[in-house]
Amino acid sequence: MNGMVTATIERLEATGHATREELELLLGEVEPEAATELFAAADRVRASAVGDEVHLRALIEFSNYCRRNCLYCGLRRDHRELSRYRISPDKILETARGAALLGYRTVVLQSGEDAAYSVNTLAELVRAIKNECDMAVTLSIGQRSEEEYRLLRKAGVDRFLLRIETSSPTLYVELHPDSDWHERLGCLRTLQRLGYQTGSGVMIGLPGQTVGMLADDLLFLQALDLDMIGVGPFIPHPSTPLAEAVGGDLGLTLRFVACLRLLCPQALIPATTALGTLHPEGRERALQAGADVLMPNATPLQYRERYQIYLGKICTGEEAAECRQCVVEMVTRMGRCVGTGHGHSRRHTGAVAARCS
Ligand code: SAH
Ligand code: SF4
Repeated sequence: MNGMVTATIERLEATGHATREELELLLGEVEPEAATELFAAADRVRASAVGDEVHLRALIEFSNYCRRNCLYCGLRRDHRELSRYRISPDKILETARGAALLGYRTVVLQSGEDAAYSVNTLAELVRAIKNECDMAVTLSIGQRSEEEYRLLRKAGVDRFLLRIETSSPTLYVELHPDSDWHERLGCLRTLQRLGYQTGSGVMIGLPGQTVGMLADDLLFLQALDLDMIGVGPFIPHPSTPLAEAVGGDLGLTLRFVACLRLLCPQALIPATTALGTLHPEGRERALQAGADVLMPNATPLQYRERYQIYLGKICTGEEAAECRQCVVEMVTRMGRCVGTGHGHSRRHTGAVAARCS
């Protein structure tokens, strides 16, 4: 095996640091033994830094309306054939209650950028969830004003997910005709300043994205000092301008996840649904390459098909209870265990690495 790759992995594992060139080497085409070594190093760092627990988050996709037109996404506003839905706050609350009964300690409320949900509506909903259920609340609703983020935080929102998608402003402009990279980064900084446990991330395999850009992404995400980092392969949607694109590769996405764990030992890193959609064992393999979070779908069944960020998403036909059961079995099979706490950022709680007995 290439001795330089081995030495780079060893140094990265020992120090948590790597140069752009070293990361390019690890992300590029490596021999299978080198990839195995990289995954094993990430798995060791995951075990010692954050432990063996896998944290589950119930995902409720509450609206597929979106005012934006991101080229890669099936929810973009120009996708006119998509039948749109909005779940009422009452129904979202009922769904969240159901998730709490199943044992979830975190609910993630996700949607397109949908102004129909005013900040007051969302704040009231979050207060009700926090009053009734012993759950942390994460929002993933895109860009809002600083004032709105402040009010939502005050209402009790614990965490916010906002992917930067790529650290390259030039690539970002090509994929987002109506959005500004610097503005999005500004939102992330605001969220951090307001005390949210903040998550970001990128997509792997975007058209025009190079391995060098991905190495930059890794360093960028490390420097942002995030609580959570979610990455997944880009999966082309046939009704978007990027229908003919190639999309993300399993091996490259896994190598990226592994490098993330080595660069950010404390971060919460999900094994994403997109990875599970790309490959039947995508999520298991990510859990063995540094990941420690899963986000099973808890959206009421009748809406699942229509939350078409990409097509072919796994588990669209399963009730929330089945989805949870399926991931609990996956976690147990792997000799890990499901986290029983809220799974807050360790940077906020100072929690120690938990072992599964
Ligand atoms: N509207 C919000 C949240 C929903 S989209 C937002 O954009 O922040 C959540 C994530 O889905 C996006 O950040 C993007 O990284 C991912 N996504 C969108 N289209 C995708 C595709 N075709 N393949 C894989 N992931 C995609
Ligand atoms: Fe809307 Fe988010 Fe999809 Fe962009 S990625 S079109 S903001 S749902």
